[in-house]
Parts: sequence; structure tokens; C-alpha cells
Amino acid sequence: MRTPIIAGNWKMFKTIAEATDFAKQLTATKAIEGVEQVICAPFTTLSALAGILQGTPYALGAQNVHFADQGAFTGEISPLMLKEIGVKYVIIGHSERRQYFNETDETVNKKVIAALSHGLLPIVCVGESLAEFESGSTEQVVRTQTEAALNGLTSDQVKQVVIAYEPIWAIGTGKSSTAEDANKTIGYIRGCVERAFGAEAAAAIRIQYGGSVKPDNIEGYLRQSDIDGALVGGASLTVDGFVQLVAGA
Ligand code: PGA
Repeated sequence: MRTPIIAGNWKMFKTIAEATDFAKQLTATKAIEGVEQVICAPFTTLSALAGILQGTPYALGAQNVHFADQGAFTGEISPLMLKEIGVKYVIIGHSERRQYFNETDETVNKKVIAALSHGLLPIVCVGESLAEFESGSTEQVVRTQTEAALNGLTSDQVKQVVIAYEPIWAIGTGKSSTAEDANKTIGYIRGCVERAFGAEAAAAIRIQYGGSVKPDNIEGYLRQSDIDGALVGGASLTVDGFVQLVAGA
């Protein structure tokens, strides 16, 4: 059985003071069991959060990573640096990074390989644009992105990866995919994993839905057979919102 995983993606929100406040409040409330819970926070807040979340049920995640261990890459953060802080998960290839920061299937793949080789667990984002959705090419897009992201991994490595299926047209728009459509696409992604890495890897890999997930719609997604959790932006920014999302899962 796959343990559901709820990950909050704070994006470029929260100062250290705000993040610290959130973590103190969160750890003061009774933790819900049976769901893996992750906070993917801005780089500047990670050290402070690590101090508060250590030894709690809440895992720490980053939102990006470079693929080199070190080097002349001004402004970048390496997997070694994240590992040192105590980061467990890292979002790779979010559509905002593909759109605004020129990330490609190739860089996503390099980052996935680098993350795993340092013991960081990737949350790999895939998903189609509105135009691709409307032209019926969703499956083709997610297959290309999934195969590229996982290229060169062993089946055992694939089992450690989390995929987040996030239709771009659903991110931050309030227009979420229906639970049935999301389940169908996620089932399709699982099939792609099975063809490339075998039934065992496909049964083990966790695939989240993301895109305007809220406390009042999360249950519908999590009830679906293939959806193993959610990657949540806006609704994860308050402690109440985060706790309700986890409760809904
Ligand atoms: P949203 O963002 O929940 O605010 O739509 C999801 C994401 O971008 O991961």
C-alpha cells in the first residue's frame, strides 16, 4: 500500500519570521497519522524550519536544486547543501520553473538523478498546458515528461520518486481538474512507469495531483484509486489550511 503524501508548495512566500511562526503553530497542533506531510519552503527559510521540524512528523522540502555538487553556478543551490540542512524532498521541474526559468526535460532528468544520488527524494512535476489539454494531447505530454524525467533510473530508484501531475491550467486558477479526469491521467502515468520500469515500480511510485487543491475538494481526489496525495500551493500557506488538507486526505 502506498502512503498518501501531502506536500505544501509555498512558492516565493514567507519570510523566516513567517515560516518560523507557521512551523511553531503546526508542531503545537496534534499531528494526523497515516499521511506523509511535507513543507516545501523557500531556500532562505529551510535552516530555521529544519530546527523546528526535526523529530516531528513533518518533513522538509525544497522547491528546486541544481544538478552539480558545487561549481561556478551563480545563484544556484546544490543537493549537498540541501542535504546538509536536513531537507528530505525536493520539487523538480515545477511548471513555473519550466515556464519562467527555462527548465527542460533534460535538466529535470539531471536534477532527479543528482537528487537521488544524494539521498534527496524528488517530487517531479509533469502536466499539460491549456492548449495541450484542449487539443487532447494530455497523455502524450505527460508521457514524454515522465519518461524523460525518469530516464536512466533503476526500478528501485523509481520507487522512491514522487510524481506530481499538475495541469498547468489548474495551477493557482481555481479551475481544478475533476477527480475522475485527474485519476485517469495519473493512471496513465502509472502505466508509463510500468512499461519502462516494471509492475513493482509502478505499484510503488506515488503520484500526486496538484492544481487548485483546497480543503473542500481534496477528499474527492484522494478517494480515487491512483491518486496518492496532493501538491498544494495557495491552500498550504496557512496552518489551518494545511491541517485541513491533511485531515481531508
Ligand atoms: P495551487 O498550486 O495549489 O495554488 O494551484 C499548486 C502548485 O503549483 O504546486
